[in-house]
Amino acid sequence: MNKETETHKCFNCEKTEKEIPLVLLAYSGNPSWICPQCLPVLIHHIDQLKEKLENVK
Ligand SMILES: [Zn+2]
Repeated sequence: MNKETETHKCFNCEKTEKEIPLVLLAYSGNPSWICPQCLPVLIHHIDQLKEKLENVK
């Protein structure tokens, strides 16, 4: 796996870093990316997103 060319995407809405700036977050030892549009969801409805985060690979 080449990290240099890997395109990251928001784990929630799947927008890629080419469409929107992404923010790196870590949960349960796994790094994930989230876009600013999904950040409020993470803040206010973290339980909804936790499940998704746990399934992110
Ligand atoms: Zn998103």
